[in-house]
Amino acid sequence: MRKNRLGKTDLYVTELCFGALPFGPLQKNIPVDECTNLLIEALKAGINFIDTAQMYLTYEPIRRAMEATGIRPVIASKSVAGSYEDMQKAVEEALTQLNIDTIDIFLIHAARIDESVFTRRAEALRCLLDCKARGIVRAVGVSTHSVRTVRAAANNSDIDIVFPILNLSGLGILHGTRDEMEEAIKDCIANGKGVYIMKALGGGILIDSYKQALDYVRGIPGVASVAMGMVTPRELSYNIRYFNGELDDTDVIHADQARKRFIVVKILCTNCGRCRETCPNEAIEERDGVSVINEVRCLTCGYCVSSCGEFAIRMV
Ligand code: SF4
Ligand code: SF4
Repeated sequence: MRKNRLGKTDLYVTELCFGALPFGPLQKNIPVDECTNLLIEALKAGINFIDTAQMYLTYEPIRRAMEATGIRPVIASKSVAGSYEDMQKAVEEALTQLNIDTIDIFLIHAARIDESVFTRRAEALRCLLDCKARGIVRAVGVSTHSVRTVRAAANNSDIDIVFPILNLSGLGILHGTRDEMEEAIKDCIANGKGVYIMKALGGGILIDSYKQALDYVRGIPGVASVAMGMVTPRELSYNIRYFNGELDDTDVIHADQARKRFIVVKILCTNCGRCRETCPNEAIEERDGVSVINEVRCLTCGYCVSSCGEFAIRMV
């Protein structure tokens, strides 16, 4: 599979990045052995890039897949930490749980925050820059749904990597349109930032336009990689064939690639509002004293699941 350089870093990543959110506890909650086997298959097939996060709770299968194969992929993680100390803990946790000395990419996990993230999380960013100076992080960046944050990142010399949301229909993009996000991404690339894309299929909503949706994000010159969440061998194989240019008319999308759905179990909801504050897509509203997920706006990221102390949010 083709590899691209991530901006000015010395990291070369496959165009298909394994998104390690959906098989973890925030979404499908697949047993660790199964997650490990899927990652082993992905690494053996040549995928050399894995995207995870502190909150995804998926370091264990990544570590086990590396141990089983002896293959060391490029690993990106991220944290919502705001303080220096919390970010330091997040980096140390990643190194320990992955059993590595250096992590390739560590991002400020910003989702819905606008460009103020660089002042609001200034201490967390300072920690990542210190980690980079110490050689335990190789590249520093930001993951975001906000056009304004991507624009600010383009001109921020501390930022090596940008991980923005982008898809054909503009789903989940905050503070601007799809075209404005595309322009901001192009500015990042022009300024030497490494860019890889999240939610190219809009959390599964664009699955019926799979090829068209992926052709769109891959068609932006300089986009290095596209993170795709995968939960079954069939899904993995389909994505690999697409990125290798091997899909033909007999390849069909299977049910396991179909859209996931999140719901709030009403009788468990105490209307505390935490999920509504957490959702990066403003997809949860209050109705009749409980939270309700708007399926049209929901991009199935699963971030609301960990915010709910009542375990009221479920994937169905
Ligand atoms: S976090 Fe859980 S309990 Fe609180 S409003 Fe959301 S669904 Fe209800
Ligand atoms: S409701 Fe919001 S936080 Fe929850 S899965 Fe959907 S987009 Fe993600």
